[in-house]
Amino acid sequence: MTLRGRLTSAFLVVVLGPVLLGSIFVALTVGAVSRERTADRLDHAAVTVGAAVSAVCRQLQAAADAVAVVPATERSAVADQLIARGLATAIRMTGPDQQTRPLRGTSREEVLEQGGRPVGWQNCAGPSGGPVTALAADADATDVTVLAAQRVDDALLARIGEAGGVTVALGETTPPRDTASRDLSAEPGQPLPLTLSVPSADPTFRYAVLTLIVLVTALVAILAARWLARSTTRPLGDLAWAADRVANGDLNTRVPIPRPDELGRLAGTFNRMTRELQSYVQALTASRDQLRRHLAILGDTLSSTHDLDRILPVILRTSMTATGARAGLILLAEPDGRLAARCGAGLTGEWDVTAAELAQRRLIAGRGVLGTVASTGAPLRGTSGGAPDEPACESYLAVPICAPPDPDADGEPEPGTLGVLALYDRLGGPAFEDTDLRTLRTFAGQAGIAVHNVRVHEEAQRLSLTDPLTGLWNYRYLREVLRREVERASRFGRMLTVLVLDLDHFKEVNDTYGHAAGDLVLGEFARRIRLGLREVDVAFRQGGEEFVVLLPETDAYGGVIVAERLGAAVREWPVPIDPRRPDLADRISITVSIGIAVFPEHGSTAQEVLDAADEALYAAKNAGRDTYRLAEGGSFDPAAATTGGPQPPRQVRGR
Ligand code: GH3
Ligand code: MG
Ligand code: MG
Repeated sequence: MTLRGRLTSAFLVVVLGPVLLGSIFVALTVGAVSRERTADRLDHAAVTVGAAVSAVCRQLQAAADAVAVVPATERSAVADQLIARGLATAIRMTGPDQQTRPLRGTSREEVLEQGGRPVGWQNCAGPSGGPVTALAADADATDVTVLAAQRVDDALLARIGEAGGVTVALGETTPPRDTASRDLSAEPGQPLPLTLSVPSADPTFRYAVLTLIVLVTALVAILAARWLARSTTRPLGDLAWAADRVANGDLNTRVPIPRPDELGRLAGTFNRMTRELQSYVQALTASRDQLRRHLAILGDTLSSTHDLDRILPVILRTSMTATGARAGLILLAEPDGRLAARCGAGLTGEWDVTAAELAQRRLIAGRGVLGTVASTGAPLRGTSGGAPDEPACESYLAVPICAPPDPDADGEPEPGTLGVLALYDRLGGPAFEDTDLRTLRTFAGQAGIAVHNVRVHEEAQRLSLTDPLTGLWNYRYLREVLRREVERASRFGRMLTVLVLDLDHFKEVNDTYGHAAGDLVLGEFARRIRLGLREVDVAFRQGGEEFVVLLPETDAYGGVIVAERLGAAVREWPVPIDPRRPDLADRISITVSIGIAVFPEHGSTAQEVLDAADEALYAAKNAGRDTYRLAEGGSFDPAAATTGGPQPPRQVRGR
């Protein structure tokens, strides 16, 4: 059964039940009351009728007395007079001889007599019995007995009945239907056998009215029940419909608020709840979209670049967005063990500096919050402070940036911490939680992969550009560096000197001592080149036993000095080897020929300068080897340079 059906039934039971019970009670009461009223009426009428009959008797007694007391001669006249005045309908006088005087008022034929008394004349004082034609009262005098009678006819009965408001009949009669009657013949002091009847009160009309009232009440109750059930269940139906739509994801659904009653309040609360839910979902969706965008940027960045300066800010921004942090900082471990700040966001106070200044900041591993995280590899979470030389904050969360585990590393120790990712002060929240820690570890994992990839990439790059035998840069890198250095020297108006070195008669070394010894000599030669150069100078193995050295910001004079120094370093210390045969020496004496060219004196492009240096090398070879030559066309006199002995390369500015 539906709620509406149940409500309707309950209402009808509650309303119609009492109405029906009350109606039955009223119907029963009405019947009893009307019967009582009829009985009361008959009682009252009996008293009234009795009094009326007594009055008639007293009147007859007075008439009889009046006739008896007057002289005998006047009695007939008095009797006539009394009859004329209506005080009696007949007067009979009887002498002591039982001789009846002439009857007054009624003819003798009308009065049947039996034993000297008229038949049917009921004496007022006597008991009733037998048929009655008249009511009589008698008075005795010495010479006469007077009997005054009143005919009991319809007129008298009507008069008596009128007094009591009832219909009076003589003797026992069968009352018509719908009447109540009472027999007075057995009543004491009642001379006439009268029967009183009144129309009994008819309750049919009242029953009809009652039935009508019940029917109307039932109709009204049914209508009211329907309206009440509808008005109660309709808002509930609306609510159920709306809840169904919300459950299906339509958060724009609202229900009408019918009235400010309980259901109206329920509808209002439902609408408010849906609104709140909608705003939560919108906020969540916006946050999810933002995170998705950041993750997309992060993914793009990670996959498209090996530039840590681009990757790390994206990782920092994304982790700040994901955790709602106010500020963040990423530091990477340096070879000397210190932590270098690589990127920051939202930092305040002493850490609110430019990117260049931030890049100069260093923290000691093992000291402070960030240093401890870097040295122990364990995350830290706190609610105040941080270390004195670290960013000020109310709460912090710092996790290590670790390289991903190497699946090929069999039992080898895990690589150390690559850096630290730290976040400060969660916006809209008291402190960072476990979920933030998990999120940040995820991003630190990304950062670890990125840093590791960059390092691997750098190493691969370095390996692809270096010569494995000597460890010097290879020819590929020579071309790139030479082009870059020429370009820079050209832009800033500086000089650049190029030395091309070729070991003399190296083929003989190979032929005499073997290829392995030759390799050893090449490695030793490269080491001596490195030792003889400044930090800014770069050495390359061009191929075979030919090498190139670039001396930035150095003129021909500086180039000659370096050439002399390198020539001497090779010449003066023969390379010790393990001889293959006992007849061979355990040291190999080698010399080197060097060609020198200067940008922009001997060439305006990288290739021209290199070609000029090559030509100068040929010149040195042709000059007998173990010497150097400066490319032709310059203004420098090498002879002057050799007089000064070994000197460091001279730095020059401008042309
Ligand atoms: P020159 O004084 O005219 O330069 O005479 P050279 O013998 O040095 O000149 P050449 O170009 O004829 O010989 C170069 C030799 O260098 C040939 C080759 O056997 C040797 N060589 C080139 N690369 C390597 C290397 O990687 N290892 C070894 N052991 N020898 C090499
Ligand atoms: Mg050669
Ligand atoms: Mg050679």
